Amino acid sequence: IHTRVQSLLLEFGISEEPKGLAIGSRWSAGQGADVSVHSPIDGAQLASFAMATPEQVGQATSAARTAFASWRVVPAPVRGELVRRIGDRLRHHKSDLAELVSWETGKITQESLGEVQEMIDVCDFAVGLSRQLYGKTIASERPLHRLTEQWHPLGPIGVISAFNFPVAVWAWNAMVALVCGDPVVWKPSEKAALCGIACHAIAAGVAAEMPEAPPGLLSLVIGDAETGKAIADSPELPLVSATGSVPMGRDVAVRVAGRLGRSLLELGGNNGMIVAPSADLELATRSILFAAVGTCGQRCTSLRRLYVHESIADSLADQLRKLYARLPIGDPKSDGTLVGPLIDENAMVAMQTALAAARQQGGTVFAGEQVTEGVPAGGFYVRPAIVEIAADAAIVQQETFAPILYLMRYRDFDEAIAMHNGVPQGLASAILTNDVREAELFCSPAGSDCGIVNVNIGTSGAEIGGAFGGEKETGGGRESGSDSWKAYMRRATNTVNYSPELPLAQGIRFDL
Ligand code: NAD
Repeated sequence: IHTRVQSLLLEFGISEEPKGLAIGSRWSAGQGADVSVHSPIDGAQLASFAMATPEQVGQATSAARTAFASWRVVPAPVRGELVRRIGDRLRHHKSDLAELVSWETGKITQESLGEVQEMIDVCDFAVGLSRQLYGKTIASERPLHRLTEQWHPLGPIGVISAFNFPVAVWAWNAMVALVCGDPVVWKPSEKAALCGIACHAIAAGVAAEMPEAPPGLLSLVIGDAETGKAIADSPELPLVSATGSVPMGRDVAVRVAGRLGRSLLELGGNNGMIVAPSADLELATRSILFAAVGTCGQRCTSLRRLYVHESIADSLADQLRKLYARLPIGDPKSDGTLVGPLIDENAMVAMQTALAAARQQGGTVFAGEQVTEGVPAGGFYVRPAIVEIAADAAIVQQETFAPILYLMRYRDFDEAIAMHNGVPQGLASAILTNDVREAELFCSPAGSDCGIVNVNIGTSGAEIGGAFGGEKETGGGRESGSDSWKAYMRRATNTVNYSPELPLAQGIRFDL
């Protein structure tokens, strides 16, 4: 195990070699194949250990089922107290956990700190929520009857997460699920297994100090797609929340639907922005830059498609090329770096393949090459690319998880909206305009068809207070804020008759 990573893990209370399975604070060695975790920064091996098998997933889900029986009747504000304490512990570990995120995913320090802050914010949100799991009182059509709905805990929740938000996505799900009364079984990405181990150690450590929290409340299974499939197939998990690529989501959706469970899917995005002639171009370039090259283009909400009005396209493209040419690319842990590495060689190959396809389809490619000077050896660093291309080019339809920005021109606003919506994915979208009619139209039912619709701000970097997720192939799930919590609970509608009569609904008579 990498020495710096080992000392970070020690901070979170992990003194032994990483293990593939944890049920609460009880860690066991995985019985599956080895996973070898490498840092995208320099390719160094961070750790290698055995993953959990599908049978071991079964141990975690049955412990969760047992935990559910007691956790569901713990008062919700007491469940919130557990989450409050987890949030406090995360505040204490913020910089260490952020450093681990950088080691394992190659995020720049600012973004890693932001990701841990997002976990803390979601804890605060969930604590407040723990006193606000409101049901409605509904006017009954019958005299002396009360019609109400209650929200009850649903059961153990399976969480499958992607490499690029290795800690926040779990927190979005787990903190809300905990206050909703649900145990959680988490399978992090095998590319970010150590972040999973660290978060689990922190949260399970807090839970172990609270007598109301049963041992199987939080579990961790380290594994790959096979382990993920075991989660999707488990009848003990009434809800599976899965974040990752569209092919993964399609597989999980079919498996969960096959057993009539529920799935909450947060899948790929192919996010677009319209830059209108009235846009503040200084604001536009700054928001494009953060959205398109932040996290080296490896956010689900990364900006990938830019539709610019033809009257300003040349000057905006020129401005962007100048900025792209001087982007600080390198070690994500160094001050001043804005673009860290891609996650691995496959990501580099996928990027180069997409750029070759774009050229073949008539695109003009600016930059996008591998960078080897001034960056740590062993990582895969690239200069983000801008591709001027026709809007109907096939490559524009697909999400390539790398920093490629397709720049396309439009003449007519309705045409821009149609092109913007003309892709299979529907996660995040934005318009840069000072024309209130355009802005409102973009936000209207006839505008963007995405789950996230922004005005004068880029596509990425959502706040936790809103519901997060997208439409079409993005999967339709909503997580984090607003009333996303309802996905983690079951609704019971109660009709209570406090009259001596038995009037039937709809006036039906049924007298003997
Ligand atoms: P991925 O689909 O390769 O893996 C995601 C997770 O699913 C991993 O834990 C993996 O082990 C597991 N998995 C893979 N195949 C599976 C299967 N058949 N059954 C069950 N589990 C399976 O994705 P990735 O490369 O880690 O992440 C990048 C992708 O995630 C991008 O497409 C990105 O847009 C998407 N993403 C979406 C959101 C969102 O909120 N919409 C957030 C982050 C990432």
